[in-house]
Amino acid sequence: MTKHEENSVVSGVGSADGLERDKATPLASQWREAKGANPRVTCECGLIAPLRFLFRCLYCGAWFCQTCAESHFNKSREQYNRERSN
Ligand SMILES: [Zn+2]
Ligand SMILES: [Zn+2]
Repeated sequence: MTKHEENSVVSGVGSADGLERDKATPLASQWREAKGANPRVTCECGLIAPLRFLFRCLYCGAWFCQTCAESHFNKSREQYNRERSN
């Protein structure tokens, strides 16, 4: 392998199309999924669920499954219900 070939292999991996863009904006890919006719969105944990089963954060705008939403919002539903009944 010549020096030149080595360089082109390295730069080819670095600029793999689409890969870096998706990693930079996970929210953009959620929006793309949410716009479908039968929207299913991928949570940050990798779970794919219908949009109606997910929870959207008021602040960052991302969708989360219940488990991730509870840790993202720093409160479980159980805690919330307990506080309300007090
Ligand atoms: Zn999740
Ligand atoms: Zn948030």
